[in-house]
Amino acid sequence: MKRIGIIGGMSYESTLHYYERINRQVNERADGLTSADLVLRSVNFEEYHELMGKGYWQEIGRRLSVEARDLVVAHRCKYVAIATNTMHKVADHIAEPYKWLSPGSRLIDVKIPLVHIGDCIAEKCKEVGAKRVLLLGTKFTMTEDFMAKRLAQHGINVMSVDNYPEEIEEIDRIIFDELCHGVVTAESEEFMMNFVYQFPADSDIRPDAIVLGCTELEMILEQDDVDIPLINSTQAHIDKIVELCLED
Ligand code: GLU
Repeated sequence: MKRIGIIGGMSYESTLHYYERINRQVNERADGLTSADLVLRSVNFEEYHELMGKGYWQEIGRRLSVEARDLVVAHRCKYVAIATNTMHKVADHIAEPYKWLSPGSRLIDVKIPLVHIGDCIAEKCKEVGAKRVLLLGTKFTMTEDFMAKRLAQHGINVMSVDNYPEEIEEIDRIIFDELCHGVVTAESEEFMMNFVYQFPADSDIRPDAIVLGCTELEMILEQDDVDIPLINSTQAHIDKIVELCLED
């Protein structure tokens, strides 16, 4: 069993799913009372949300980096996962190796073994043969290229949503104002359904799959709602974490 460190709380609604499902899935695959050896660092999302609003991504990267290092050095975690897609905007910074001055005054090279959510999404895309996807998420995830670039490294092409600025704003609002508070309204459900049917209908080439690239979106869209494969980033991340936890 390997110890995993989770940086969560962004939002706590989806982090609850990580904690519950990682343990349940580990227990199902192992004997008796086995549960995951994990350390959960749940941050105050309001502080991060404020920094996101101001565009202070360097500070976000710095803070998450400190949290990740703490999980590795102080808590001896073998892997670190950030339980959100959007914060992977600063993943490269977090994953940077660094020099740690040990109590014995020795400089030790520390690697941050980050379980990148984009790699987990890509793995699921490959399983269903999806090469071209509609990526849903916060406006950062949908309009910036950090996730699209990561998926492109695996040969997966994220389709442009440039023609849908109002829809992107509304999806972002639904995530932060409703889903992050555990609220799912019938209006928002209808809006999401309309968008996931409208987008392929408008496109010359249909997506092979829809990616729920936000850890709360599974609350509002399910596989049964759509007629093409739905890749759930939360579950994709959890499945990989469980696999790594169970390593000898
Ligand atoms: N949990 C969300 C995500 O997966 C949004 C909240 C955040 O900005 O971290 O992107």
